[in-house]
Amino acid sequence: MPLLSAMNRIPGLPLKKRARVVAMIAPIALLAACGSVPLPPWLPPVSQPAPGSPTSSQAPATSAPVLVEPAVVVQTSPVLPPSVVANAPAEAPAPYSAAVAARFPAPPVVYSTPGLQPGRTSFSSQDEVHNWLRDQAAALSRSVGVKAALVPFGTSQQGQPLEALVLTRGAGTDPAALVEGGRPTVLLVGQQHGDEPAGGEALLVVARELAQGLLQPVLERINVVIVPRANPDGAERGESATARGQDMHHDHLLLNTPEAQALARLARDYRPTVVLDAHEYPVTGLYQEKFGAVPKFDALLQYSSVANLPEFLGKADEEWYRRPLLAAIKGRGLSAEWYHTTSKDMADKKVSMGDSQPDTLRNAQGLKNAVGLLVETRGADIGRLHIQRRVHTHVTAITSVLGSTAQRANELGQLLPYIEKEVSALACKGQATVQAANTLAQYDLQMLDPVTGADKIVSVDWDSALALRPLKSRVRPCGYWLAATSKTAVERLRLHGVQVLRVAEPSALLGDLYRESSRSSPDSAQQGLRGTTGGQPPAQKIEVALTRGVIDAPAGSYYVPLNQPLANLVIAALEPDTATSYFANRLLDSLASTARVMSEPSVRTEELP
Ligand SMILES: [Zn+2]
Repeated sequence: MPLLSAMNRIPGLPLKKRARVVAMIAPIALLAACGSVPLPPWLPPVSQPAPGSPTSSQAPATSAPVLVEPAVVVQTSPVLPPSVVANAPAEAPAPYSAAVAARFPAPPVVYSTPGLQPGRTSFSSQDEVHNWLRDQAAALSRSVGVKAALVPFGTSQQGQPLEALVLTRGAGTDPAALVEGGRPTVLLVGQQHGDEPAGGEALLVVARELAQGLLQPVLERINVVIVPRANPDGAERGESATARGQDMHHDHLLLNTPEAQALARLARDYRPTVVLDAHEYPVTGLYQEKFGAVPKFDALLQYSSVANLPEFLGKADEEWYRRPLLAAIKGRGLSAEWYHTTSKDMADKKVSMGDSQPDTLRNAQGLKNAVGLLVETRGADIGRLHIQRRVHTHVTAITSVLGSTAQRANELGQLLPYIEKEVSALACKGQATVQAANTLAQYDLQMLDPVTGADKIVSVDWDSALALRPLKSRVRPCGYWLAATSKTAVERLRLHGVQVLRVAEPSALLGDLYRESSRSSPDSAQQGLRGTTGGQPPAQKIEVALTRGVIDAPAGSYYVPLNQPLANLVIAALEPDTATSYFANRLLDSLASTARVMSEPSVRTEELP
């Protein structure tokens, strides 16, 4: 659809505003249209711009999403014994009218994990999760050709084990065997926020269905790594944050928490092609007070929306994943919308999609050239109410993602090496976006009348992540120099899988030196949408000026080349004025500790052990 007619379809958007929005995104559309990179032959022709691509409208369609035939190839409903169905737990009274609650009937199947047993008042305990995963691994080991292992991959702040269930038909369950086997790996992550239980319980269901149920056939084509509980300390206390009060959901670039560090190491080693991050969103309070309406959607979805995301990865996110996922959700009588949230400031009527900061799992994984997906179900703040439906929504979404990956296994196997080569080839010459922002539009958001439960359209200011506006760009360096004192930054980069080299003899490098030109506190509304920092001060907003000069690089300092697949992640971490930079977050002590290397260095370097 042409951009202008797409804009004209946004009801309520004043003409002047339409013109302004078009003016903002027209250069991006032009850029995409003139893109010099030819579409790889294995990609299906795109007949219309994807809603998530830079060529399309920045606001989602206000009508129902365009549905295509589901790509899901796997039958999934868990078949449960009738006795379990008969003992379905009674749901708690609703914090809203019976008419609203009636919009969310229980699904036609009943899921049965330890935490979903009739009469239970608590969700699965850490021991129950461990035993359940161990039992699935044991059940699978009796199947011919399928291997499973329960892999400890770290320790929480309170000393609880972090565990992943690895399932594969490859030669073994270690990372090398999975990578060598050539099948794409899907990493499923639940409960980064400890008080969002449906994702964790759903992942137990999915583990069982993969091990001994209807999902097992997908293992012919893909590997699956399941982390039902990324934040066990938070889950145990029914709290969002980690034991030290940090929000690990926003810690996937800096890696300050042991939980995010462990997850980064797991992803570095198992190299997932797709990462799905399962959450829940709150439905009482805020929206009712601010908009006089109750959130409606069973699922909120978003994929990587971050500066420098490779174009074809964005297309794969949209066409190979989101569209089949929407079809699957809709096919089960459930509803979905783009992920969105709103600040606690009652005067701020803006509703924002997930932002472009590279600190969430979906965005950091996008910068690692993987498909990054966020799925949030309806009800972080309603206890056990509608829990079967919430779990059903997650199981439906995850099943779709597993099915899409199985169906696209060959194309993904071709696309990802192509993207890695393309990203590496941009070193020394391509442009990099350092700062980008969402675009504002009007949007008619569907909600529910709190009394009658009927659909209620609420017109909101909509902060869209679908067309990022580049605010500041600069030429990509050949790499970054880091002083020998930059040990923490080097360690974090290497946890991500970034190649860091050590300068072996004193050298002089041609480069851009940074000078801090201004420093300010982050926008408070934006900060309000982010999680707790566990007492750490929020990052400062840094602006810098560049001066061309000679970098004196002593032996023992570091060189981070950009001709590597994770170059986009390196840029997000090391340009000091990005939204989540290592300098602004004190992982680098001084701007004198880093510089942009602007010509291919002839310096002798060595690999780190
Ligand atoms: Zn969450």
